[in-house]
Amino acid sequence: MVATPIGNLEDITLRALSVLGTVDVIAAEDTRNTARLLDRHGIGTRMLSLHEHNEARRAQEILRLLEAGRQVALVSDAGTPALSDPGAILVARLRAAGHAVIPIPGPSAATAALSVAGLAGTAFHFSGFLPERAAARRAAIAALAAEEALLVFYESPHRVLACVEDLAAVLGAGGPQDAPPREIVIARELTKLFESVHRCPLAEAAAWLAADPSRVRGEFVLLVTGAPKATGGSTGADLDRVLKALLAELPLAQSVKLARSITGLRRGEVYARALELTGKAPAAKA
Ligand code: SAM
Repeated sequence: MVATPIGNLEDITLRALSVLGTVDVIAAEDTRNTARLLDRHGIGTRMLSLHEHNEARRAQEILRLLEAGRQVALVSDAGTPALSDPGAILVARLRAAGHAVIPIPGPSAATAALSVAGLAGTAFHFSGFLPERAAARRAAIAALAAEEALLVFYESPHRVLACVEDLAAVLGAGGPQDAPPREIVIARELTKLFESVHRCPLAEAAAWLAADPSRVRGEFVLLVTGAPKATGGSTGADLDRVLKALLAELPLAQSVKLARSITGLRRGEVYARALELTGKAPAAKA
């Protein structure tokens, strides 16, 4: 499992070059893309394609190559294979068949972004890509609302603005009112010509992105500070903010489920308040 550059073709380890130059076959997510890397480093090893649509079939072929005494390297289009990329199915099959699978570590967009974010704390929660559909994306974000670790996401240029809007709408809705506002680091095009790293309050990020079309071009890692450390139970005001944000997007049952996991409050209390807010039950007397 050989990590390759996330942009700058010089970001590759000596060991990776040696392995790519000496194995019998390189399985590559996109052989044309990897050909550019191999050309740059004068490597002529034979390639075969392995991507998300043929991984299971290729795993069988690679198994046969290994059984015939060949050595195979796997690379993805960028960074570390099997990290938001194909590779895990292959690794599981090879391990199950008793073959050694060796990591050749190197670049990854997530660790590159973490290294320049300047955000304190050691724990981070890597979520990879959020769902494409808005409702599913908001539900996935809501499920992370109580997470205290730094949140790490991958995002494409087509969805980065919508994703940042949803992060602000959903994560901005929960938590105690006196908690410090969440921050975001938008790491774009790392190691490439238009590399940029921008840090700002999460609530201001969508406007910052929308202000200049060049800010939404390229590849992104988004890092969002975690929920404030829990100091006690959630309040009724927290519950209302969370429920209102969820009910605006999701059916009642799903909103109640997510609001419970965010606030830690009892189901009966959350359900009753959800009914009141949707006008399905009379509001409780003060
Ligand atoms: N396996 C890769 C790794 O180790 O980071 C990730 C592959 S995933 C399919 C591709 C996503 O990684 C992009 O959509 C983007 O979110 C992120 N990414 C890759 N290269 C990047 C770069 N140079 N700058 C910022 N993000 C990048």
